Amino acid sequence: MTADILEERKKSIISSDFCCQGDGSGISCEKESVSGAVSQRACVYCGARVVLNPITDAFHIIHGPIGCSSYTWDIRGSLTSGSDVFRNSFSTDLKERDIIFGGTKILEAAVDEVVAKHGAKLIFVYATCIVGVIGDDIEAVCRAATEKYKILVIPVKAPGFSGTKSQGYKLACDAIMKVIAPAYDGSKIPGSINILGDYNLSGEMWIIEGYLKKIGIKVNATITGDASMQTLQTASKASLNIVQCAGSSTYLAKRMEEEWGIPFIKVSFFGVEDTSNSILRVAQAVGNEEVIAKAEELIQTESSGLQSFLDKYKPKLVGKKAAIYVGGGFKAISLIRQFNELGIETVVVGTQTGQKEDYDIIRQLSNSGTIIMDDANPSELETFMKEKKADILVGGVKERPLAYKLGIAFCDHNHERKHALAGYEGVRNFVEEINLSINSPVWDLLD
Ligand code: SF4
Repeated sequence: MTADILEERKKSIISSDFCCQGDGSGISCEKESVSGAVSQRACVYCGARVVLNPITDAFHIIHGPIGCSSYTWDIRGSLTSGSDVFRNSFSTDLKERDIIFGGTKILEAAVDEVVAKHGAKLIFVYATCIVGVIGDDIEAVCRAATEKYKILVIPVKAPGFSGTKSQGYKLACDAIMKVIAPAYDGSKIPGSINILGDYNLSGEMWIIEGYLKKIGIKVNATITGDASMQTLQTASKASLNIVQCAGSSTYLAKRMEEEWGIPFIKVSFFGVEDTSNSILRVAQAVGNEEVIAKAEELIQTESSGLQSFLDKYKPKLVGKKAAIYVGGGFKAISLIRQFNELGIETVVVGTQTGQKEDYDIIRQLSNSGTIIMDDANPSELETFMKEKKADILVGGVKERPLAYKLGIAFCDHNHERKHALAGYEGVRNFVEEINLSINSPVWDLLD
């Protein structure tokens, strides 16, 4: 392994040959970022907002400087079948004077304005870094507003510096529980499921719902892609939770299991293998023999329909090398499997918030010598992409310039993308994009 790595970061970067102890303890992860290492990770506030933002009729008031509000404004390509209020961003726009004398009066006025002008029924109020420093009591403001207007005004105490992005996910899950809980009445809808941790990027939630509908499974609430306050408040009635983005939503699934007895399974709808397995596992978990038979038929039809498509593209991709840097472990695992299906070797793989068990699976799926990294920074990514001669990087908006500056192809697999990558439809989009980017003639023009 190259020597240009900060000493404190060395335990978070391993080779797949490194002898893990069966529990993933070979890599250091789930820790706060090393100061000065310039992590690619987003902050606590961002982690909370990206989970809550797709709730279509919710208002988000960002208590802090305008920059925090714009940082996550319309951050996801989440689509809606109802309200599009969520695409706005409201801010108290704190200035130096407010930071010296306190900003609670401005926050109270912002809540009053959002209720008066927009008739808000559900408001999330976020505390950002500076609010964490000056100590404005956003809980008191939210409590008073809830009593005054008889609506849900929920504080999300998420100063960016107060932990990791995963802490933001937890805060968001706690906030979602506060939306669901008031409607809990103990009733159940037999055989129905909630989908957790899918954000309806480019309509991906609708693709998954479509499969489940075809095999006869009722989707109750979607959390949070294309959700509304009213649909969220039915969530406690489901018989099963399925968790697509494990990093952001496993904590919510566990809380719903503890409080309302709803079991959960983790799924992934990225790639042929994971999509097929997930459909079958959901059918087996809540369906009868007829549902399972329909699931098997759907999987057979869709998979065989894709075979000639994959056969066409595979010769153009076999032998290429990929680097992956994404938010959570489950997505990284699905991507390695997808690349394996295409004959592409994953030579570098990392995540912002992966857990020990994710890294164990990643290590098992990887070839000898693959670099595995947790909470990487740009310098580390560049170093290992060059060292391992990656042909393509799969990541998000912050990784795109790294790839292009190195003359490496890129595929966006994050919030901002505008085409679906989930389900069997997503496999087609993904393979076409990978092929277009890797085999673009532009790379031949580089020295
Ligand atoms: S909360 Fe803090 S770290 Fe996050 S965007 Fe605002 S200032 Fe930056």
